[in-house]
Amino acid sequence: MKPGFSIHVAKENLKFSAAHFIAYPGFREPLHGHNYQIGVRVEGRLAATGYVLDFGLIKRLTREIADRLDERTIVPALSDCLRIERDGRQVHLRYEDDSFSLPASDVAILPIVHSSAEELARYIWNELYKALADRNALADVIAIEISVAEGPGQAAVYSSEIETK
Ligand code: ZN
Repeated sequence: MKPGFSIHVAKENLKFSAAHFIAYPGFREPLHGHNYQIGVRVEGRLAATGYVLDFGLIKRLTREIADRLDERTIVPALSDCLRIERDGRQVHLRYEDDSFSLPASDVAILPIVHSSAEELARYIWNELYKALADRNALADVIAIEISVAEGPGQAAVYSSEIETK
């Protein structure tokens, strides 16, 4: 971490409850769930307003991302061992000889390979980055760090600097 200013948000309402299973060729976890907690840290330059970035904006945008995952089963669209088929209002998942069928409205199909906390952290990073970029809110931002905890005291972290264009 470089010296300077950063803001950190890890509020109770940045949680989401979701089901998932990790699957590799030859190994699959049973379907189970977590109460995930998202943490956001933004490193930046102090703007003329005296802020790095509005806490309220970070909380609102992160909450919107969490809401899209809340009470869903997370499906990694880029998995190398899951077959995912959409059939009307159902989504069928096939792993070797096992299969699941879920209502499409109950799943969140994400562009990740595994639904690990690490890959979820990178996914949320990308979503938050896009949402901030859409609002031209990145001018004073140097780096963003996202943590995703599957339980207390056990978090995966993804961080990256913002490329200045
Ligand atoms: Zn799990």
